[in-house]
Amino acid sequence: MPSRDVWRSLERLVRRVNAAAPDSVEAFDRVGVSCVGPVDEQAGTVSPPYVPAWNSFALREHLEELTERPVTLASAGAAAAEAERRVGEARETSNYLFVVADATVDSACIVNGRRIRGAHGNAGAIAHVTVDTDGLACWCGSTGCLEPYLSSIALETEMNRPLRRANPSTIERAGIMLGRAIASMCATVDIDTVFVTGGVIDAFGDELLDVARRELLTRTRLPNLDGLRLIEPVEHIGSLLRAVALTVPLGEPITRSATAR
Ligand SMILES: [Zn+2]
Repeated sequence: MPSRDVWRSLERLVRRVNAAAPDSVEAFDRVGVSCVGPVDEQAGTVSPPYVPAWNSFALREHLEELTERPVTLASAGAAAAEAERRVGEARETSNYLFVVADATVDSACIVNGRRIRGAHGNAGAIAHVTVDTDGLACWCGSTGCLEPYLSSIALETEMNRPLRRANPSTIERAGIMLGRAIASMCATVDIDTVFVTGGVIDAFGDELLDVARRELLTRTRLPNLDGLRLIEPVEHIGSLLRAVALTVPLGEPITRSATAR
């Protein structure tokens, strides 16, 4: 992600990939795009934190003009959740939360086989659930959100060093806060599985997940939440495939030609 001229760089990239497509690859007929939240699925705009130039940026309209194809836009969490049930490990469950802990925290929720969307497409986002009433400042303007405890940008800024050199106390704190946010979400939407993935999980591993599971156990005492699973998917689904998943109806296979480009 370049720090400036973000759209121009993306436009150049799309043109280049399109021009380089071999004849053997079928021309694409639709476009999927995901962006870290918050998004506005209705308006087709994105406002990723840390990219000031993209405040309510009309990404869908720009891409539709550029590609002359219909564009489906959703949050990064939504794309990840949709991909996981098409080509990943969520094929057997219809009630789950999918959390991506990366530069920022993004998530989405599938309930009764449908992704809940909300007014703008951000339903199921746990990044700004309050996990500490007297907590760290968040980029959103509030304090005590999950985001500053679990996003790599926030953690690296706070520690002034890379994630892999984090203190055990920082990892434990991240696990506790993640467990709290998930517990609140699960009590609200009555789901049975939570998937977590992303760069922060890669860096902190079981040290974080074990703490999160412990916290989750102590905070989910309702009988309907017995057996709630917190899992890290074994196979990583890349962001391009996740974006493709947004354009493919459930039950329709994702073929290689759909992802070759
Ligand atoms: Zn926040």
